[in-house]
Parts: sequence; structure tokens; C-alpha cells
Amino acid sequence: MEITPAFLAELPKIELHVHLESTMPGEMLERFAARQGRRLPRPAAELYHCSAEDLSDFLKFLDSICAYVGTEEELAEAAEHLSLSSRREKILYMEAILNPTHWPQFTVPELIRAVTAGFDRGQAAGGADCRFILSLSRTQTAAEAVALVEAMKAHRTPRLAGLSIDGNEALTGLTGQRFRPAFQAAGDAGFGRTVHAGESSGPEGVRDALDLLEADRLDHGVRGAEDPALLRRLAEEKVPLNVCLTSNLTLLYRRPEDHPLRRLLDAGAAVTLNRDDPTFLGGLTLTEELGRAASFAAMSREELLACQRTAVRAAFCGEETKAALLAALAEFEGCR
Ligand SMILES: [Zn+2]
Repeated sequence: MEITPAFLAELPKIELHVHLESTMPGEMLERFAARQGRRLPRPAAELYHCSAEDLSDFLKFLDSICAYVGTEEELAEAAEHLSLSSRREKILYMEAILNPTHWPQFTVPELIRAVTAGFDRGQAAGGADCRFILSLSRTQTAAEAVALVEAMKAHRTPRLAGLSIDGNEALTGLTGQRFRPAFQAAGDAGFGRTVHAGESSGPEGVRDALDLLEADRLDHGVRGAEDPALLRRLAEEKVPLNVCLTSNLTLLYRRPEDHPLRRLLDAGAAVTLNRDDPTFLGGLTLTEELGRAASFAAMSREELLACQRTAVRAAFCGEETKAALLAALAEFEGCR
């Protein structure tokens, strides 16, 4: 059946790959900046109209954005905003990635406390059920990585779902060996493990994430499709791939026809659909992302629903939450 705007709007959604740093509206940051006696570099509505220079140094620009958030309460407000705005487009459940290296003004326990409080408030006010994942940067040391996991264990809350790693593998090379102890400790402590791989790295980065970091799922993972044997393995082992089509078409694939979304689906890979960095992608909504993916890869309604169910299975939450999410999807399907 045809995918209509009404279907996309009403579809219950689950998102597993979105960076909290890339969800803060310019107007909110303008307000926070004013409290510090600072001003944004350009009008709030244009904050994310980035120059090529900003994007060539994306991580630095991200640091400058995060620096406007000065207090735990403001960080909690940013988290609460994400939960409330998500629910408006029927996102029932979300896992947001947060990288402490972008937030030097906060300790890890402060970050955990503030984001937990914001997500709690958001859900209590009718927002999405949001959890978060703390992310390492590939430039960090093995000792820093283990220290992050220790802090996660010591200050754990029900909203803190897992450990991630991101950063440019094209610059750092493979880092699986360096971060293996931290990922092992996270797994032993019952945290979920996800890894950015198969975006700035090719198939070798995907193997590194699976074999050395024992990742439960991959953020992106799309370049795993470049190697037929690896693609077969990803499909057979049902490794969840948190694909971000718009992000990939903006940053990774010069020719849209090179994006392997259709091939991944046809191979039987476990695909979920996500936004990655919404404010940097024109204020992208998940509804828009799903619509774009559906038309790009000629997906059916059943395939879009299957991606939501895959996301539920790949989520780092308890079985009770998963059962409730699957029931909501089944109810939606029954009403069609
Ligand atoms: Zn990402």
C-alpha cells in the first residue's frame, strides 16, 4: 500500500541514533547565552546555517554550541525539550547519544543527573520515553574510556542505557583494541554497546566494532555493504544498523544512488531509520526522515513498520518496555 503523509504522521516511531548535542533549538541557546552575558554568532533562526568552515570543523562548532548551556538546569531543559518535541511526532521511545567531551563544563555525574531529570520531566508531561547513551571520542585514551565506564556504573540511573563511541575513524585509524577493555566493562555491567562504524570507516571499521568491541548494534554501518561477505554476516547475525539516510546523503555519498539502503533491506539486514544530527540537517524531523527513506528505497508500509520493530528489538531497555512498544505497533497495524 502507498505510504501517505497521514500514515507517516501516525506511525508510532522509535529512534536510536540521534545526538542530543544536535537537537537544541537556536532560540533556546540564545536564551541560555544571554544568561552568560553572551550572544550567538548569528541570529538564532540562522544558528545552524553553517558555513563550509563550520562544517569542516564540525566537532569544534559542536563544542561552541554546547558551551551556551551553562547550568545543569539548562541541560535538563534541553533534554526535556527533546522528549516533548519527540512525542509531538509520535516518537514513543528514543535513545539519545551524549558525548561528555563536548561538555567540559559538567562532570559526568552532573551530566547523568541533568539529562535524567530532563527526560523524567519530559515523560511525566506526556513526552517520549527517552534514554541516553554516553559516548567516547575516538581520540580519547584507554584509561579515559575505562574511567567513563566506572563513572557510569557509580552514577547509574534507569535512563542511562549504554556506551557508545564516535569520531572520525578516517583520522584516528582503527581503535577497537584501545577501547576493548572499556567496552568489556560496560557489557559486564549490563550496559548496551553501540559503535559508530561503517561511515568514516569502511568494512574494516565494522569488523573492528563487532569483533573487538562486541557491539550490540552499529550506528550507520552502511559501508559494511561494500564487502559481500560482511553484508552476509550482518544479515545472518541480525546486527542492528542505525541508518541515517539524510545525514549520509549530506556528508558521505556524493552520488545518492551509491547509498546501500535498498541493498541492505534486500539482503535481510536489521535496519533502523534515524536522524543523527537534526538541527544541522535543516531541523529534520523523524517523520521527514522516514518519508525520505521510504521514497528513496521504494519501501512499503510493511518495511517501514518492520524498521520500527527492529528498533524495539535493538533498544537498550527492559523486556516490559519492549513489549509495550511492540503492542503499540501491533495496534497501529491492526487499525490500518
Ligand atoms: Zn551519529
